[in-house]
Amino acid sequence: MNRTPIFNFSAGPAVLPREVLQQAAAEMLDWHGSGMSVMEMSHRGPEFISIYKQAVADFRELLNVPANYRILFLQGGGLGENSIVPLNLAGRRAQPATIDFVHTGSWSGKSIKEAARYANVNVAASAKDIGFTAVPPQEIWKLTPDAAYLHICTNETIDGVEYNFVPEVSADVPIVADMSSHILSRAVDVSKYGVIFAGAQKNIGPAGLTLVIVREDLLEHALPICPGAFNWKTVDEHESMFNTPPTYAIYIAGLVFDWLKRQGGVAAMEQRNIEKARLLYEALDADDFYQNRVAKENRSRMNVPFYLRDESLNEKFLAGAKARGLLQLKGHKSVGGMRASIYNAMPVEGVRALVDYLNEFAGR
Ligand SMILES: *Cc1c(COP(=O)(O)O)cnc(C)c1O
Repeated sequence: MNRTPIFNFSAGPAVLPREVLQQAAAEMLDWHGSGMSVMEMSHRGPEFISIYKQAVADFRELLNVPANYRILFLQGGGLGENSIVPLNLAGRRAQPATIDFVHTGSWSGKSIKEAARYANVNVAASAKDIGFTAVPPQEIWKLTPDAAYLHICTNETIDGVEYNFVPEVSADVPIVADMSSHILSRAVDVSKYGVIFAGAQKNIGPAGLTLVIVREDLLEHALPICPGAFNWKTVDEHESMFNTPPTYAIYIAGLVFDWLKRQGGVAAMEQRNIEKARLLYEALDADDFYQNRVAKENRSRMNVPFYLRDESLNEKFLAGAKARGLLQLKGHKSVGGMRASIYNAMPVEGVRALVDYLNEFAGR
């Protein structure tokens, strides 16, 4: 099973490590002599339980998740989790609770809309009036002292805006972070957060799996209307098998975790990601042929949106990229332009190939 070398810059579902796809292909019909594909296994059988336990242990090790945090494998994606979070945490306060948000782009905007169904929403700060080109500094945030929690999106996938700090909040207001598009790309001090969640299809594996890291004491506050399959306490008590989990997606995520460990873990990935981002932004900044509008200190290492100065060349740019095997560079429809997503599985050679093309297309 070969495929011509291409570099896939999709924002998600996104590129996976080639070795992982090859291993999955080799194990497709018969996993480790079991006579079964992972897709055909009972989620309660010893084979799948071993896959699940290894995946959880490797994820815990990779992100240094402290012992008082649980790791849950859910479904519903990142957007689903935007409802699941308030359903699990709004009960920390008398109803209706207030939830604080920082509006830094498309995804935190969607989170606000979802949460408004279950609680009062306070937008503590918004970057809307600056076109989502920076994270508002914490000095200007207007936080609610007794908020049920503070929600932030630490990497805005569409706008290309990434936090470069962890907010300081009162001990009784947990921070909930949507890390869908940069989880495992950099070291994170998990203990600073109450909840971290991520849809798998950006930096972990196939769509259909959502990872949730939740501090133990936050398992106890679900609203009565919270569905059982989305109730973190229930899911935790059943080791993510209250109902059938997305078994094949968990298996692939496990292969990715194993691959990450062999690459040297998150610290090694972070160094590689810094270098990849540096190369790409340097090419975009070389002159005004291309433009990235995000404040330098908030430029995402994972999602790099950019515009051609002459947007009438967009189609020509994309066609030329495709001819060179540089795929899925078209920007999100809501913002236009281009976007290169350079997740963990994008090798530095892919970024170099893109940089060469950027320079050639600009006539440098
Ligand atoms: C992709 C993404 C989501 C939504 O994920 P779905 O699985 O499509 O629901 C949420 N938040 C962020 C930051 C994302 O990048």
